[in-house]
Amino acid sequence: MTLKVAAAGAACGQGKQEIYDLEKIKALPIIPLGEQLGAVLTKGAMALCIFPGHIERTPSLHFESRKNTCFCFGCRRGGSVIDLVKIVRDCDFKDAVRWLADIDQAQLAKPKPIRRTVEYQTPVKHDGVEYLPDLEVYASIMKCSPLQTDGRLYLNGRFITDQTIKKFSVGQIPNADHLVASLIHNFGYPRCEKSGVLAASSTPSCPRLVFRSQHIVFPFLNGEVATYLQARSLSPSMGSPKYIGLRGVRRPVFNLPNVAKSRAIWLCEGIVDVLSAYELNKPAIGLLGASTTLRPDELDFLSGKTIYIVGDNDRAGRTMVKRLRNQFVSRRIISVIQTLPPGTNDLNEHLVKTRRK
Ligand SMILES: [Zn+2]
Repeated sequence: MTLKVAAAGAACGQGKQEIYDLEKIKALPIIPLGEQLGAVLTKGAMALCIFPGHIERTPSLHFESRKNTCFCFGCRRGGSVIDLVKIVRDCDFKDAVRWLADIDQAQLAKPKPIRRTVEYQTPVKHDGVEYLPDLEVYASIMKCSPLQTDGRLYLNGRFITDQTIKKFSVGQIPNADHLVASLIHNFGYPRCEKSGVLAASSTPSCPRLVFRSQHIVFPFLNGEVATYLQARSLSPSMGSPKYIGLRGVRRPVFNLPNVAKSRAIWLCEGIVDVLSAYELNKPAIGLLGASTTLRPDELDFLSGKTIYIVGDNDRAGRTMVKRLRNQFVSRRIISVIQTLPPGTNDLNEHLVKTRRK
């Protein structure tokens, strides 16, 4: 049996058609496909549900390799490989067929082992200073900056649990003036400046840290090593930004080195969204600021994976989704646009609403 559908991108009524072999598409093995879409199978071919809107703690999604079908006993959805794609991508039958015909079947059967490394030590020249990540300086800041009660309460209030806080080694800047004095004492002013931890207004006679006292600080970890730091103000006041990054140093993709083994990844807009995704059992990375794009080495790192793009529910978020999707299409990386429920602005809000139910 074949299916004739308008070619992707062809306008209606132009008569351009593509012909798909439905039997062949339906015979694509459902387990590797489910895994490619993020199902992590446990014993008895069960997985936590991957369908939109269903969040659970015990697996209800069952895969039946003999019949080549799947079914979720929780949300009572499932079916063939085409149904699986229809549900996950929230699309119609023809769109699902087109999508399945386009995926790399060899990749699905046997994922290519890829050496995954990301380059983070790129020097950036700016205002006569050559900025370069300095892991010792960042480690020293994190060592002096344990999370305090108000920071923990703030995160717990957004349903980020202590377990996730620990996993991401979230800290909090103590007295910024004392911290900057000890950094300069240990590493010297020029080295601190090059590492991006000093504010634009900082001078050797009046040194200032780029972060302020009480800011929550998130290390960008590669294993256990912080390769970048980003701070968040607990109570942003007029004129001061909510998020502050290092000065002059290129900001890497948050959590990217730690998802090498995951087959499907959620791509979010902020760090708290990445932490929220982990609360929802989804391995995630964060592109901070909706204007960021991925570098070629970062795209290489993601090849062979399925990327669920979760943009914020605003115009900047939707623009980001479109731009990233084009980047993924050009690299033949499978991506799925994940829309948040109406009235939900970002993934953390989604987590909060889910947990409050
Ligand atoms: Zn379900």
